[in-house]
Amino acid sequence: MTDPRTTVAQACRILAMEGLVEGVLGHVSVRAGDDRMLIRCRGGDEHGLMFTGEDDVRLTDLDGTIIGAAEGYTVPNELPIHGELLRARPEVNAVVHAHPPAVLLCGVAGLGLRPVFGAYNIPAMRMALEGIPLYPRSVLIRRPGLAREMIEAMGDRPVCVLKGHGITVTGASVEEAVVRALNLNALATVTLELARLGAEPETIPAEDVAELPDLGAAFNDLAVWRYHLAKARSQGM
Ligand SMILES: [Zn+2]
Repeated sequence: MTDPRTTVAQACRILAMEGLVEGVLGHVSVRAGDDRMLIRCRGGDEHGLMFTGEDDVRLTDLDGTIIGAAEGYTVPNELPIHGELLRARPEVNAVVHAHPPAVLLCGVAGLGLRPVFGAYNIPAMRMALEGIPLYPRSVLIRRPGLAREMIEAMGDRPVCVLKGHGITVTGASVEEAVVRALNLNALATVTLELARLGAEPETIPAEDVAELPDLGAAFNDLAVWRYHLAKARSQGM
C-alpha cells in the first residue's frame, strides 16, 4: 500500500497539473486515526503545490496542532475546513480544498452547475443531478465556526462551491476526493464555455439519464487516478 503521505503529495501535484490550484494555494488531507490527519502544510522553502513532496505532508490533530517536530512547517490558514469536516462526518476520510478558476467564475457569475451533458462525463453529470451546494460567503475559512457554516451548507454532499473562493470536496479516499474535484472542474469548465457561447442549454432529459449507468466510483476513480499519476510522471512531476 502506498504511504498516505505519498498519496496526499501526489494529489497536490495532480491538482496543480490540472489547473485546480495555482501557486501555493490549496491543500489536501487524509484521516490518520482518531483526531489525527495528514495534511499538506507549508515549509520554510515553500515552492507551490505542483512540487509538493512527502515532507510537506504533516501529521496534525483536528485542531491543527502539528504532532512531533514541526521542522519549520506551519499548517494552512484554512485548516478548519479539513479538521471540522473530518470531525463532523465520519464517512469522510479525505478532503480537497482548491481554487479552480472555472468554478470561481461560475459561482461569481451566478451560473448554476446543471446536468447539461451526459455520457461525456457521467460522474460529473450525476454530481450535477444530485445537486451541488453553494456556500455563499467569500471568506477565508480560518476559524472553526466558519468551517461549520460551510459544512452546514454542504449537508451530506461530497462537494461544495465556495462563492468567490473555491471548492471543498470530500471522499472515502484521497483518490476519490481528487477525481470528484476533477469532475466538478470539468462540469464548471463546460458550463462556463456554454455561457461564453451565449448558449442556454436544457438539462438532459430523464430518459437519457436512465441510460447513463453509475459505473461505480471504485473502478472509475482509481483508473482516472492512475491516468493522472502517469501523466504527471510523463511530465517529469
Ligand atoms: Zn481557500
